[in-house]
Amino acid sequence: MCIENPMVLANGNGITDPQEDEVVHYCGGCGGEIFIGNEVWAVHGDLIHRNSDCAEKYVQEIGFPQIAKEEEEQT
Ligand SMILES: [Zn+2]
Repeated sequence: MCIENPMVLANGNGITDPQEDEVVHYCGGCGGEIFIGNEVWAVHGDLIHRNSDCAEKYVQEIGFPQIAKEEEEQT
């Protein structure tokens, strides 16, 4: 048996690339780990995975759901 693929053991006790494995932040949306090299949104000091799922979860945390209505004139 020849184990050449480090991705098989992604739980930290195998041989992993430290560049890929270092958690730098936790996602403001899903709460999951953000690793070095991940694509993220930086919003108000939070980092969010750059996908629509996490972005929507984050907005749900900080925003208020409502029904859009006609805009009122701001004076
Ligand atoms: Zn996320």
